[in-house]
Parts: sequence; C-alpha cells; structure tokens
Amino acid sequence: MMRKLQGIAVSPGLAIGEALVLDIEGFSIPRRLVTRDAVQQELDRLHKALADVGEELARNRDAVSRELGAKYGAIFEAHLQILQDSGLRNDLEELVRQKNYSPEYAVSRVVRRYAELLQKVRSRNLADLFDIEKRLLRNLLGRPREDLSNLRTPVVLLAHNLAPSDAANLDPNYVKGFVTEVGGPGSHTAIIAGALEIPAVVGTGPFLQEITSGTKVIVDGHEGIVVLDPDDETRTRFEREAAARRFRAARLETLRDLPAVTACGTRVELFGNIEFPDEVQHCADRGADGIGLYRTEFLYLGAQREPDEEDHFRAYSKVVQSMGGKPVTIRTFDLGADKVPHLPDPEDERNPFLGLRSIRLSLRHVPMFRRQLRAILRASALGDVRVMFPLISTILELRHAKMILADVMEDLEEHHVPFNRNLPVGMMVEVPSAVILIDLFVDEVDFLSIGTNDLIQYTLAVDRSNKDVVGLYNASDPAILKLIQMTIEAARRKSVPTNLCGQMSASPTYTMLLLGLGLRQLSVPPSAIPEIKKICRSVTIEQCEAVARRALTLETARDVKSYLRGELKKCVPDLVP
Ligand code: PEP
Ligand code: MG
Repeated sequence: MMRKLQGIAVSPGLAIGEALVLDIEGFSIPRRLVTRDAVQQELDRLHKALADVGEELARNRDAVSRELGAKYGAIFEAHLQILQDSGLRNDLEELVRQKNYSPEYAVSRVVRRYAELLQKVRSRNLADLFDIEKRLLRNLLGRPREDLSNLRTPVVLLAHNLAPSDAANLDPNYVKGFVTEVGGPGSHTAIIAGALEIPAVVGTGPFLQEITSGTKVIVDGHEGIVVLDPDDETRTRFEREAAARRFRAARLETLRDLPAVTACGTRVELFGNIEFPDEVQHCADRGADGIGLYRTEFLYLGAQREPDEEDHFRAYSKVVQSMGGKPVTIRTFDLGADKVPHLPDPEDERNPFLGLRSIRLSLRHVPMFRRQLRAILRASALGDVRVMFPLISTILELRHAKMILADVMEDLEEHHVPFNRNLPVGMMVEVPSAVILIDLFVDEVDFLSIGTNDLIQYTLAVDRSNKDVVGLYNASDPAILKLIQMTIEAARRKSVPTNLCGQMSASPTYTMLLLGLGLRQLSVPPSAIPEIKKICRSVTIEQCEAVARRALTLETARDVKSYLRGELKKCVPDLVP
C-alpha cells in the first residue's frame, strides 16, 4: 500500500526505482513473506542456521578459552545460551509458521522485540543480542554485509544510516537515490550525495521495518518526500515533474559560458566545491571560475590504507591540471567528527564535533600533515593553488599551522623541489570565536572562506547531522547573518578576499542577501552553479543591498527566510521553483 514519508531534502533530483533495503548492520533483508507451501523448507533453513551458529559459537568458546582463559571463553558461552534458549527458537518458528515470515525477517523482528524489552530493564546484554542477530543473518543470507560498490542493477538505497565513507563508495550509475532514517541537513553523507549528484532524503524516522527490497520507491530530493509503493497516478505525476525539471535544467545550461555578472555589471566569481578529483569535470561542465573548496579528507575516507605523499600529489595535480590555470583552493584535512579514518590513538570521543577534529587533528599528527602540505606545495608549481586551514578557533592554531607550512617550504627549497613561494594561505571561518576576533585573523591570512555548515552548528549549538534538531539548524537565523556581516566587513577593511563555501551559498534563497552583504565570491556544489549564476545575472547590487539591509533588521529565522524568498520571487520570477 502506498505510503508517503517526509524527511530532509539534502541532494536535489527525482528518482524512481526498486528499493534495496539495508538494515542497521548493512545487511539487505530480502522479501519478508514466503509462500505457504515453502514454510517447511524455510523452517529447515532456520534450524540449519541455528545449528551452524551454535557450532560456530562453541568453536569460538573453546578456542578463546584455550588461548585466553575460561573467563573470556564465557562470553561465547553466554551467546550460545541465548541462542539455544527455547523461547527464542519458539518465537522464530512461530513467525515463520504462522505469519509466513522469511527466517531473515523473523530474526530481525524477534531481535528488535527482545532488544526493546532489554532496553526497558537497561540490560547490558543488548550487544550480545545484536551479535547473535548478525551471525544468524550472515548465515541465512550466505554472504557478508552488502557490498555497495559492487551493485549491478539500478536501485534506490534505503538504510538506517550511511557513513560518509559508505556514501563515498556509491556508484551513481546504479544507486539512483537514497533515503536514510537518521541524519541531518549538514551531515557529510548529505554533502557526498550532492557531490555524486544522487537525489537523497535523510532523517525520515523509522520505516525500514515496513518495506522490503524490490518495492518501488520515489525519492524527491527537492522537497524531502519519499513515496513507498506509489500508485499509478502518483508515479505518472512524479515522472511528469522529473521531465519538467530536466527541461528547466537544460535551459539553465545555456548560461554555461556566460560569466556571473550582475545586471549592473558587477562580476561575481562562482567556484565549485569538490570532494573527489573526478568532480572537476562537473565544475568544467557548468563553467565554474575555479575550485573554491577541495575537501581533501575524502582521499582518506575511501582508502584502505593511509595515503602517502604521492597519492596526495596525484589527486591534487589531476585537479590543478584539469582546471587549466583557474584557481584551486585546497583545504587541508578536515578529518574527525563524522569523517573518521583509521588513525592512531582513536579516542572514544563523547563530543566528536567538539573534539580532536580538523586542524586540531592535523596539528596532533604532524608527519601526516606535513605529507599533505608537501603534496599541496608540489602541486602549486602546476597552477594557481591556494591552501586553506579548516576549523581555526584560535590565532595560535593558525600560527602553528602556518609555521609548519613555512617549515615544509624550507625543506622543499633545500631539496630544490619546485613550488610557489607566494602561495596564498587562507583560513575557514566556521567557529564563532574566529568571527569575534576576525580583526586579528585578517592581518594574518591572504583570504577567508566562510564555512556556514559548521558556523551554524557551533553558533546555535545544534548538531548538523541530527534530524531531531533540524528546525534549529538554520542559515536564516539573524545571529548567522550578523556573523557573516562582521566577517565580510573586517575583511573588506583590510582588502582580504572572502568567499562563502557552506551549503548556504548553494541555496537560491540566500544569493541576493550574500551579494548585498558584500560577497563577490561564492563556492557551491557544481550542480548549483547554473541556478546561482542565473540569479546573479538577474539582479543589481543596489537591489541586493536593500535586501540585506532589511533582512538584518528581522528578528527570527522564519521572518528572514520568508522575506528572502519573497524578494527572490519578485526579482527573479522565472527561476526554477
Ligand atoms: C562548512 O563547514 O561550511 C564547510 C564548508 O566545511 P564542511 O562542510 O566540510 O565541514
Ligand atoms: Mg566545516
């Protein structure tokens, strides 16, 4: 039966396709019902899985007891007892026999039910229970966790959650769209969906238990709507809408070779944000003026081993050379928080977004940081490269990073390795402390780039990847507008060029505001370039300044947003809705 879900739109586009449902552990659970005459066969499969897993646990218990002692072997003995509990066995059999559930689906249902009970009594045995579930599913499905990089038919991926590193491995030729139960608007998984240009909706809340692989699904990455099992009328409506959007996008593509010049003649530079070297082509296709943000940490997230200097250099030089002399701003690693590779001393962080992330992590792992800086400097001999440090929160941090950079430069010079001695050095403004002391910072950098994705999170104390506080995560908040204004004005006083590379700059709602506040550089995901260019070419700076002045007087995010939307409609009436 058709069902509609509302989530958070994070990557535009419409997708219609067959669902591939992944459960919490990344297994895909096949159809949940079996035919009545197959019940005995399915019960046999269930019994065999129970017996196999029992043997596996007993083997583990014996081996661990032998090598580490009986105390450790007892962990597996406890698992074995849960597995052999007649209550569990009866519950599983009953679901297969009476409700015709597949054994896989029965296992996940029974485990969820037991888990709820255990949670209520705050039992510590939850992890044991999930371990048994995993073993049973692995046995029943006869294969390990779904390998998402190896799909061979088109699907719409439905999952509880996807880590940025999982998302980075998706093949857009086969993954036509994805939906996750959790996740927020600023999560890096959302950013990856945009990079791969896969329509995506996150934060729908629980629904996976109600759907099986193979069901038709519609993903509307513009409105955040997901339709499970759509009826014919809904499907036809979505297909018509998809065709109309394709037509409008094709019309915007005609702006490709025209510059982003306002109606009054002011030049705006539109740069692309990229995560992977291959995205350079997306930027070139849309006529980008350069790369405003290259998120280099994705080199780490997709890799099986730590990238060496040559891996870095290959990636950077590919980007720089493909941009044919246009500027490329390489941001040093922004690892940590939700972008976590396998680094030494993985601390169990309670507040990862406030912890050892980004520049802090680079300054803690200096050899790794130096390897990256060497590669960036070497690439600077090949084109217009700029380097930028993320998440700077104190002036000492900035000085420390610059000192290491100067040291690496000296090293290269000593060894006669060519690089650009005058390479521009910038910082991201994404922590409120940097804005408060922005007058100090502008004296020590060649350029700034405002990272609103984090600036919003740290200013409003709202986790960018948490759907439950999505209402507070708002670029329209008057506090955010003020911080952007303060940054731009301080930079202007010292003639320091300033860019804005957070997702905010990709939303048509904010273009007039940002131009009115004084920005002349915006960096957006490549897919957003045509639309933002269209707005730039349709408005005058005078109009934009009036919009910014008025917006700065409003008191709530809701008022700001509706005012900006109204002005956009008035000034650019023929824009894509
Ligand atoms: C930002 O915080 O706005 C930004 C561009 O960096 P990231 O999204 O990679 O944290
Ligand atoms: Mg950031």
